[in-house]
Amino acid sequence: MPERTIYLDHAATTALDARVLDAMLPYLTTEYGNASSIYTLGRHAMQAIDSAREQVADILGCRPTEVTFTGCGSESDNLAIKGMAFAYQKKGNHLITSPIEHHAVLHTSQYLERFGFKTTYLPVDNYGRVDPDEVGRAITDQTILISIMYANNEVGTIEPVAEIGRICRARKIPFHVDAVQAGGSLPLNVVELNADLLSLSAHKFYGPKGVGILYARQGMRLLPQLQGGSQERGKRAGTENVAGIVGTATALRLAYEDLPKVMPRIIALRDRLMAGLLTIPGSQLTGHPTERLHNNASFVFEGVEGESILLNLDLLGIAASTGSACTSGSVDPSHVLLAMHIPVELAHGSLRLTLGKDNTDEDVDTILSTLPGIIEKIRQLR
Ligand code: PLP
Repeated sequence: MPERTIYLDHAATTALDARVLDAMLPYLTTEYGNASSIYTLGRHAMQAIDSAREQVADILGCRPTEVTFTGCGSESDNLAIKGMAFAYQKKGNHLITSPIEHHAVLHTSQYLERFGFKTTYLPVDNYGRVDPDEVGRAITDQTILISIMYANNEVGTIEPVAEIGRICRARKIPFHVDAVQAGGSLPLNVVELNADLLSLSAHKFYGPKGVGILYARQGMRLLPQLQGGSQERGKRAGTENVAGIVGTATALRLAYEDLPKVMPRIIALRDRLMAGLLTIPGSQLTGHPTERLHNNASFVFEGVEGESILLNLDLLGIAASTGSACTSGSVDPSHVLLAMHIPVELAHGSLRLTLGKDNTDEDVDTILSTLPGIIEKIRQLR
């Protein structure tokens, strides 16, 4: 086994920041109270949650009462979309989204179709960008929600969400932004983004797994998706994950404090990866060349299966990702790449490398010196 994992899959998840763990530890040990209890231990837990909510609201530029903690990014997306759809179904049954969304959005929209809702999936261009004008054209008198992601999880393309939000605002249609991949990287001020709802997930920005955030602008009538106690102002029942919530707020704050220092270094690493790997014959960058997440380098390679690349990299201790998904024994190419008009054959050979704050020049050197050979070997075996 190689000594150290070269971790290039930060879009999948990130390691917990040691400073975040320190902030969480008291709430996993001595401060174990239930935030609903009225005695001192319970009040400490509630104070910790209140303070975390204020920190998150500060970064989002919203009121603390507009922030709900959930169990993951998927739950935040579900609560936003189902919560809005069911609350506003008397007004209309039409949703608008894009075909490159995460399954937390796509499968939720498909689920709602069973209850009589209809979804328009807007086309995207070859870079995976939604045209804001298309959003305007798709709105009908039945439209009750528009949901477009901030940045794509596979190819890193950044969507023109502020512009889309401006159109939604002008037409008085609530706008949800899945910002799970943008958290810790892109500005999250909900006023500037013209967002009415926005989802985040802590484990994408060096926070703990199992905590999501949903911003919902005051006045959005969300129908809760979990019934039970009145936690989170009745929007999300269940005893709060106090340590996780404290860790989430700490991680979000630290991510933006660290960003000016970390970002230029990661961009330099990413640009070296791109320049080096695009010299491989039959390679192509996926996603927008400039309007993309600073840590995302994603490609397709002719004549290879993404899964084979991953297995070969794993043997060298390198963790990466492909957009293809293994379903019932066969490998399906990524829905994102297909929506971006990448031919099926080529979409099978996708590779996503996503950098993080602990990656080094040596990590990039290792990829650049091994990946061309791996691809050549796979091609010869076909
Ligand atoms: N939305 C996007 C864009 C994502 O990338 C992810 C996770 O990869 C999710 C939603 C779901 O987040 P979670 O893993 O916290 O459920």
